[in-house]
Amino acid sequence: MKFKNSNKLYKKGLKNLVGAVNSPVRAFSSVGGNPLFIKKAKGSKIYDVDGNEYIDLVVSYGPMILGHRHKSVEKAAKKALKNGYSFGASTEAEIKLAKIVCDAFPEMDKVRFVNSGTEAVLSGIRLARAFTGKDKIIKFSGCYHGHQDALLVAAGSGLATLSLPGSKGVPEGAVKNTLIAEYNNLESVKKHFIEHDDIAGVIIEPIGGNMGVVIPQDNFLKELKDYLETKGALLIADEVMTGFRSKFGGAQELLGVTADITCLGKVIGGGFPVGAYGARNEIMENVAPLGGMYQAGTLSGNPIAMAGGISTLSELKKQNPYNRFEEVGSILEVILLETAKKYNVDLAVNRFGSMMNPFFTKSKVTNFEEAQTSDTEKFGIFFWEMIKNGVFLPPSQFEAWFLNSAISDKDIKVIAKAIDKAMLTVSKM
Ligand SMILES: *Cc1c(COP(=O)(O)O)cnc(C)c1O
Repeated sequence: MKFKNSNKLYKKGLKNLVGAVNSPVRAFSSVGGNPLFIKKAKGSKIYDVDGNEYIDLVVSYGPMILGHRHKSVEKAAKKALKNGYSFGASTEAEIKLAKIVCDAFPEMDKVRFVNSGTEAVLSGIRLARAFTGKDKIIKFSGCYHGHQDALLVAAGSGLATLSLPGSKGVPEGAVKNTLIAEYNNLESVKKHFIEHDDIAGVIIEPIGGNMGVVIPQDNFLKELKDYLETKGALLIADEVMTGFRSKFGGAQELLGVTADITCLGKVIGGGFPVGAYGARNEIMENVAPLGGMYQAGTLSGNPIAMAGGISTLSELKKQNPYNRFEEVGSILEVILLETAKKYNVDLAVNRFGSMMNPFFTKSKVTNFEEAQTSDTEKFGIFFWEMIKNGVFLPPSQFEAWFLNSAISDKDIKVIAKAIDKAMLTVSKM
């Protein structure tokens, strides 16, 4: 397999782009080698600029849940394009998408559209503070909530449990109201409530997806919600990754827990830039123009992006692919585990519906600390072997693999073969 054109573009890109990328994980830093440049994609497949074909298990980190260039999405976006790109005024499409979203989340009466998951979460946090009149927010180490200052602490970095900024350029003052707890450990949340009386809420990825996939144990989320109610603090569900993916109603529907504020992104735009945050009326009425919490956006509710979202979610509802995701996911999980056993490679596989990933470790992985026991060098070898055998994976041990509804039984066979070859190579290290 040749990467000549990708390598050429990479060198060219270095001149005027930072690291030749616009988002760091695309730089392949944690797996070595140069990033691939993509030319096009269709259905379950993606093609790089050297003409190599891959089965795509990245799907843009989740949004392309129907596979690439789904007919009805493409048609809807083209139709919207003909009417103009942006108006700085409201359109009917926003009302339509808002209804689909609010119907999917029973506790959500109103929603506000923004342009990214980062924006959705930073607004959701502001709203929790506006509603409760309190400043502090608890987050879990290993959970990622976008790149806003206040939440760039223990966000999949090595600074877990310390309230220190996980990025240069984030002043300590910006994270002084951020408290860190451990995933799957309610006591670590309670401890903060004993020490502080100004906690507005707790933000969580209801299924962890940014430290690799980490699953909430037993009744962790339910108990967390019940506990927060006794404290008058809000549960903020960051469903940017899980919304419309775990189930149509997100992880909340799957796990039977309802959050006070829900943040959405990724699938909601079907590949176009859409984020959203929503809650019951009593909470949302704090947002301008109804209330005193300011939040705005020149391109928010963009008509092309709304068309992408409406058509993606409508098609998703029609297809109802969640049982199929479960089926395909469990097949891949078994293949990973059996192949690892066959070649004597230590492997843990975490999976929740259509999100999964293998960790090269003996340990069980239930939190960020355990995720970090994974041998990332092995993952790097595994990653490149998968690429060479026609499977595009996220270039990081700590990113989830995402299924899409265009994956066929034939694709599964190709993935299985690639896993076998890659695991063999890893076993020879
Ligand atoms: C991707 C992600 C975000 C950030 O969304 P962007 O669109 O990249 O800004 C926030 N929270 C979670 C859980 C995510 O997976």
